[in-house]
Amino acid sequence: MSITNIMIPDILKIRKDFPILDQKVNGKPLIYLDNAATSQRPQQVIDRINEFSLRINGNIHRATHFFANKTTEAYENARETLRSFLNAEETAEIIFTHGATESINLVAHSFGDLFIHRGDEVIVTEMEHHANIVPWQMMCERRGAKLRVLPFGDDGVLQLGLLDELLNEKTRIVAVAHVSNVLGTVNPIAEIISKAHLKNIPVLIDGAQGAPHFKTDVQELDCDFYVFSGHKMYGPTGIGVLYGKRKWLDQMPPFFGGGEMIDRVTMQKTTYNEIPYKFEAGTPHYVGAIGLAAAVDYLNNPELSLINHYENDLLSQATLRLKQIEGLKIYGEAPEKAGVLSFNIEGIHPFDLGTLLDQMGIAVRTGRLCADPVMDHYGVENMVRASFAFYNTAEEIETFYKALIRLKAMF
Ligand code: PLP
Repeated sequence: MSITNIMIPDILKIRKDFPILDQKVNGKPLIYLDNAATSQRPQQVIDRINEFSLRINGNIHRATHFFANKTTEAYENARETLRSFLNAEETAEIIFTHGATESINLVAHSFGDLFIHRGDEVIVTEMEHHANIVPWQMMCERRGAKLRVLPFGDDGVLQLGLLDELLNEKTRIVAVAHVSNVLGTVNPIAEIISKAHLKNIPVLIDGAQGAPHFKTDVQELDCDFYVFSGHKMYGPTGIGVLYGKRKWLDQMPPFFGGGEMIDRVTMQKTTYNEIPYKFEAGTPHYVGAIGLAAAVDYLNNPELSLINHYENDLLSQATLRLKQIEGLKIYGEAPEKAGVLSFNIEGIHPFDLGTLLDQMGIAVRTGRLCADPVMDHYGVENMVRASFAFYNTAEEIETFYKALIRLKAMF
């Protein structure tokens, strides 16, 4: 990889779509390297959201007037856009939720209540975000089931050989991150899915850090569930997706009760709507869904077809540079990584580093990164994380590197 010769879409043109980036923070040009926490939104997404606030707003599926019809149409078109993004077989398999966390909770509750019983087992990995641990733990406590954990090595790679031992006749589901939010590891999800499917065990993929970087074909992958959040992939907050195969969703009981998820209500009994509506109780965040579809449309722009390579080049450049800093330890050196670089510098508290970088206009994440087991694995309390998006530039990486050198010298 050459530091200067990054294969580049017209990045400066693309950056103009993100007005928030063109600012100074603490008197310095903003360098936003906290994209794994939340990414920024292009003007096209903001405009689409504004359109639905300024000129059109009606509750969906509930009335026959112009606004209601327009909004319903846009909401259902958004579902089709997301179906196409994931190549799901049908729109009914796309459920809008508040985000990855709610999607996982929905499956843990609903799938768990139906299929998981005392003595059964659920497999997660040691590198999961809390959102893909805690809902399963809570469900295991409720159902008397056991959580089993697939570990990773110090290099940040899952110990896949151990999966064969973990998968057994008691396993009811496997839940694994597409991409680790701390280590950046791109997990071998196709292999995990085929191993689990050999034993008829379904697999949920937490795509919160996958969807922003890759276009995933859920049919080709053959995953049973795929979840992600809009705000990490250039869309609005408060909206996310649960993809599920119809064969599971049809059987699973509703998660929330209320309007829209019903077929018929009497005081004695309620019958439920079809999927996807069975899982969308109450007024959904339809403006969010419409905004998320605009983000997907934006990502479908042919100019962004090279973003994977470009982001990989940024990551390689940053890795190469950070490795030149004495006393800096990178956590996670898997051969397949995406967009995330977590590290510590000997003798500097991660919070000090984060605060001082902020004073230089550089936004990174510090803390436990919602992944206590990963912190425990490496025996550290906190880390610093820089995470990249296609609107970051080689120059920003160089400025970041030089800032770290300066701070290292200060301490
Ligand atoms: N899973 C992973 C891998 C994440 O990185 C995150 C958020 O950082 C989540 C799940 C939860 O996403 P949200 O907070 O948008 O629900």
